[in-house]
Amino acid sequence: MKSHNVVIVEDEADIREVIEYNLKREGYRTAAVADGERALQLVRESLPDLVLLDLMLPGLDGLEVCQRLKADSETRHVRVIMVTAKGEERDILMGLDLGADDYLTKPFSPKELLGRIRAVLRRGPLQEGQASAQPLVRGPMLIDRERHQVQLDRRPVDLTATEFRLLHFLANNPGRVFTRDQLLSRVIGENASVVDRNIDVHVRAVRKKLGEHRDLIHTVRGVGYCFRNPAA
Ligand code: CA
Repeated sequence: MKSHNVVIVEDEADIREVIEYNLKREGYRTAAVADGERALQLVRESLPDLVLLDLMLPGLDGLEVCQRLKADSETRHVRVIMVTAKGEERDILMGLDLGADDYLTKPFSPKELLGRIRAVLRRGPLQEGQASAQPLVRGPMLIDRERHQVQLDRRPVDLTATEFRLLHFLANNPGRVFTRDQLLSRVIGENASVVDRNIDVHVRAVRKKLGEHRDLIHTVRGVGYCFRNPAA
């Protein structure tokens, strides 16, 4: 049997070592890194079968890493298990929304760790098509991530790539308030031009295109923006 290749992303050295020790003993090939940037780089280079991804990382956090892996056609098929501390339930939900396959809450036993890994690997790599989420339906709005299309009252809405990512991200996490900085890092990326970095401009543009449904994106004064679930 081919031994599976697992990338371990964990900033706490002792946990990283315990995980690596247990996986190696089971015959997995492993590589470990301590931060998100290196995780992205390593996954892109080695295309492992699975990433064990700690959520709280210095710099680029686990959610961002997961989102970027799932947004990239080269890496979106890679299975992801999130590793979280207690009290990060909201992050777990968000991670699953972003395409993670499962999660483990610290502290976990080696048995639990290996059991989850086996279960996820048994599913094999994500197939094309499977990796894309079902279209998101929010009241009058349908967001098809696969086709990069938005329909409102069954009529197509013409959005730029950035506007699409912004609307999809907010609608995928309804009711949750995001600061401009969070939206900037999750939707736009750190390397964008100064013009692109202005979240308010993008929100204004999306709202204009949503017309009578513009209030789906709600401004939380002094904080940021939130998608209002039309069913709520
Ligand atoms: Ca951590």
